Amino acid sequence: MSKTIVILGACGQIGTELTLALRSRYGSESVIASDIREGTAELMESGPFVTLDATDFPALEDLFRKTGVTEVYLMAAMLSATAEKHPARAWDLNMNSLLHVLELGRMGLYSKLFWPSSIAVFGPKTPKENTPQSTVTEPSTVYGISKKAGEDWASYYHRKYGVDVRSLRYPGLISWKTQPGGGTTDYAVDIFHQALKTGSYECFLKKDTALPMMYMADAIDATLQLMEAPAAALSIRTSYNLGALSFTPEDLARSITSDLPDFKISYVPDSRQEIAESWPHSIDDSQARKDWGWEHRYDLEKLTREMLFNLRENS
Ligand code: NAD
Repeated sequence: MSKTIVILGACGQIGTELTLALRSRYGSESVIASDIREGTAELMESGPFVTLDATDFPALEDLFRKTGVTEVYLMAAMLSATAEKHPARAWDLNMNSLLHVLELGRMGLYSKLFWPSSIAVFGPKTPKENTPQSTVTEPSTVYGISKKAGEDWASYYHRKYGVDVRSLRYPGLISWKTQPGGGTTDYAVDIFHQALKTGSYECFLKKDTALPMMYMADAIDATLQLMEAPAAALSIRTSYNLGALSFTPEDLARSITSDLPDFKISYVPDSRQEIAESWPHSIDDSQARKDWGWEHRYDLEKLTREMLFNLRENS
């Protein structure tokens, strides 16, 4: 059966690259991007786009019926650092968009849903090293609470109504095509822009703050692989732990100086430090590796090389 794919929140850091990857795999006309704002020229020119608020149930139902959508990717959300400033708005966007889309799945309006969770589901009491798939969560941010509740709703709709919802707990994602959208790991993207522009960077996290991270190409591969895996292979219907790298701002700065020897970094931690300290240092993603063959391709050296090369080429 041919696919019709709808992406909600397609103009963000992940949605932009996900839309382009889906269009190149399944054909431009089969992949409908939507958001409340327009995206990059490359995204807007590469296929169909509709303006749509993912918290508007009638508009979602209308789009799903009109397009005969088969797969939905729900990427609209308010991220960790911004959500701490606007808790009620974050809860409204993050929960209602998901509950609306799950409900439309229960009504049989599509056959598969991807919805991302995050390492933010974990909290200060979670084991920090090699954090297991199933462990204490107790998230301490509004964003983390919304992701944890979302995971439980996803699992509920799968168990109770058979909605084929699939999910990954993304770590901090590093990309050059679009800027990150207000998360705690944004420093790991900003640092590359500033290194090339000014030769120095003031980091909002302490130098020894280790966090799980991943290059965007790996995150996109993981997403497409999970969506293509046979349903019977999937043992996790809350959200899969997904890992690749773990590094500190100091490690990343050292990696950048191998290309830019004069690069300087300073550290002025702000409120994001507290969020970062509540999250794991590294992730045990063995269940994803076992169930659907997940393997990351980018280590810190390769990621640094790709980021600097692409930003130089495209600036
Ligand atoms: P982003 O902030 O870059 O993009 C979100 C997009 O959603 C934006 O284009 C925004 O305009 C859109 N949006 C906001 N409100 C909307 C609404 N009411 N209706 C439709 N669209 C709306 O975020 P991202 O980094 O691309 O994240 C996508 C998903 O991945 C989110 O669920 C996020 O929690 C999750 N995630 C991201 C990271 C990361 O490092 N980027 C890590 C873990 C999880």
